[in-house]
Amino acid sequence: MKITYPPFGDARIAIESFLRDFGHEVIPPPPSTNRTLSIGVKYAPEFACLPLKITLGNYIEAIEKGADTILMLGGIGPCRFGYYAEVQKRILKDLGYDVEWIILDLSNGWMNLFKNIKKVVNGNNIIKVIKVLRLAWEKVLAIDEIEKIARRARPFERYKGEVDNIIRETYKKLDQADSISHVKEILLDYRETMDNIIDKNRLEDLVKIGIVGEFYVVLDHFTNFEIARRLGELGVLAENAFYIEDIVRIYIPIFRSKDIDERTKVALPYIKRSVGGEGQRTIAHTIEFAEKGFDGVIHLSPFTCMPEIVADGVLERVSKDYDIPVLTLSIDEQTGLAGVTTRIEAFIDMLKTKKKRRMAG
Ligand code: SF4
Repeated sequence: MKITYPPFGDARIAIESFLRDFGHEVIPPPPSTNRTLSIGVKYAPEFACLPLKITLGNYIEAIEKGADTILMLGGIGPCRFGYYAEVQKRILKDLGYDVEWIILDLSNGWMNLFKNIKKVVNGNNIIKVIKVLRLAWEKVLAIDEIEKIARRARPFERYKGEVDNIIRETYKKLDQADSISHVKEILLDYRETMDNIIDKNRLEDLVKIGIVGEFYVVLDHFTNFEIARRLGELGVLAENAFYIEDIVRIYIPIFRSKDIDERTKVALPYIKRSVGGEGQRTIAHTIEFAEKGFDGVIHLSPFTCMPEIVADGVLERVSKDYDIPVLTLSIDEQTGLAGVTTRIEAFIDMLKTKKKRRMAG
């Protein structure tokens, strides 16, 4: 079995780690490019959401490299994510790709879920399974911390690309790490290196932006035009509303924490019930950022994503009520880097002027 998976952001390091440790031959999809997107756009239904199109392109590129099995989640949440696996399965079949699917999905019953989990754990005993999952989880936490620290460091880079070079080297080591203590050592080195870059005295003066929206677009660097890096290079501290750990806690029931629902409650005056995806949470996160004193919020929304369309409908009111500027970027295959950059730069200029006035006054 040559297994592949839907990549998003840097989660690939943790996903690959546990698949490899279970003894699978892993064929990672090549990093997403415009080719990946055009393949997805060509074969997916026109109104499918952007993440479906990009991951479809990822699968086809992985199959071209020899993958014969696809691991995917399914049946979660009242948005279209639940249908992804089934839709993509049919598209690939119609295109003549003969691949096996392992869909981790409770909607087809516990028996079916256990059968698929058994395929993933590949005959390993429970002790090994726990060990592998603990290491993968530690890598998830490390990836999140690496990303959070990078966002504080980028505005202070001594040369362009400095932080990205360090991250690249750190990820190479993290990918090879075979124990929790090794992961911790790597993280310690990384923190020390970044501490030399971050100017703590100037951190408070930076314009602070919160990034909210649909999880795939927020976390996948290719899809969001590497927004965190661009903002960092513009001298802005950009924090996400959530990282990979939060997404695991939201979408995988055994990891779900009550904290998620508590945090969402502040959105209730605007959206009374869940509208699927991150819709309601987008509002809650915007309020959270306003309350934490952030200067602005960027809302990332895949074009045709219903939950984010609903959120967008009330964001203007939230923005007024909490006095926080919000820029919504609706992203689809037509969206170009030049347009996104212009809008981001204009937004940052406005926030910088506002902040200067506030500090002076
Ligand atoms: S949240 Fe939006 S983009 Fe994501 S799967 Fe659901 S409908 Fe599609």
